[in-house]
Amino acid sequence: MRILILKGDGIGPEIVAAAETVVQSVSRRFNLGLELEYGEIGLESLESQGHTFPEETVAKMKASDGVILGPLHTAIYPAPEDGGVNPSGGTRKALDLFANIRPSRVRPGVPAHVKEMDVVIARENTEGFYADRNMAVGSGEFMPTEDLAISMRKITREGSARIAEAACKLAEQRSGKLTIVHKGNVMKLSDGLFADTVKEVASDYKLDIDEYFIDAMAALLVRKPEFFDVIVTTNMYGDILSDLAAELSGGLGLGPSINAGAEHCIAQAAHGSAPDIAGQNIANPTAMILSCGMLLDWLGTRHDRPELREAAKRIDDIIETQLGEESGRTTDLGGPLGTDAFGDAVAKRIEG
Ligand code: NAD
Repeated sequence: MRILILKGDGIGPEIVAAAETVVQSVSRRFNLGLELEYGEIGLESLESQGHTFPEETVAKMKASDGVILGPLHTAIYPAPEDGGVNPSGGTRKALDLFANIRPSRVRPGVPAHVKEMDVVIARENTEGFYADRNMAVGSGEFMPTEDLAISMRKITREGSARIAEAACKLAEQRSGKLTIVHKGNVMKLSDGLFADTVKEVASDYKLDIDEYFIDAMAALLVRKPEFFDVIVTTNMYGDILSDLAAELSGGLGLGPSINAGAEHCIAQAAHGSAPDIAGQNIANPTAMILSCGMLLDWLGTRHDRPELREAAKRIDDIIETQLGEESGRTTDLGGPLGTDAFGDAVAKRIEG
């Protein structure tokens, strides 16, 4: 099984290196036979090839079984016509990765802002407000004059239905509870279509369903996070809500995610490239490591290989043990470990 590694920008090379150490250890322990391959993306490929998202990398992604992708410092990329395409949007479009699955939970001993929380946010990943991926050709954002900027938000029945299916399946495997989040009181047509489609899909499942407007949901997630389980929502609401959930659980460095479609899956931490702490060996690689675990779990289900799912569970269990000890944490959580030492400690425990 071939796994493509793309380091990304900022803290990307550091957290991806720690995650790679863990993936190699789990591959040895469970005889997974993972073959790690490498490619260029982001600022690295901009320098060497003049493009942040080169065709060669897209081809490698398509040819691999799974991808580990570091965060990207997209805010400083040049314009797309000068080679600065956002690979996050690009991959979601090129590989049709319609489901962004972002779990967040409070783990024993980890300093968190709330006592109890175990949620998974299922975020629609290919349309909504995100102009770099929501159009078949061209951008969903444009300027008719120098003083007028327009963004088009796209919601389709098909896009809403497929994230709804993914969320319902997840809810079925978990507690059977699904919360639909939208802003249908104002965006009556677009969010109305999203909410109605999700409810239609969910009617085929035996689930306990409720719904909230996004603004109230942000407050409720802080006030009573233990009340929620699987949350399904549109692209931008899910992006924002998942950072909130990760921070509530202890910090952005704890929020993993996969971007999944019918045929491809990419492990990518929910957070960004954290330029403020890049190059200092202080970033928390937990989110990146857990994202790799989620990728292995996805591959295990897709290829009916239980050992991949066992490996994923082992990563999650060891992370829980590691974070449960103050001496096992990185500095953002009050511990003494650097990014690399954290990865090494998790890898050692996995094989121990
Ligand atoms: P960010 O998520 O990079 O950082 C926000 C804050 O969280 C910073 O203080 C940072 O130090 C901290 N943080 C993030 N990850 C951490 C980790 N693993 N360990 C410890 N602390 C961590 O958000 P930002 O500063 O708004 O964005 C920086 C860049 O990342 C921008 O160029 C943005 O466009 C990009 N971005 C990329 C992705 C992605 O590639 N998936 C996602 C979000 C933002």
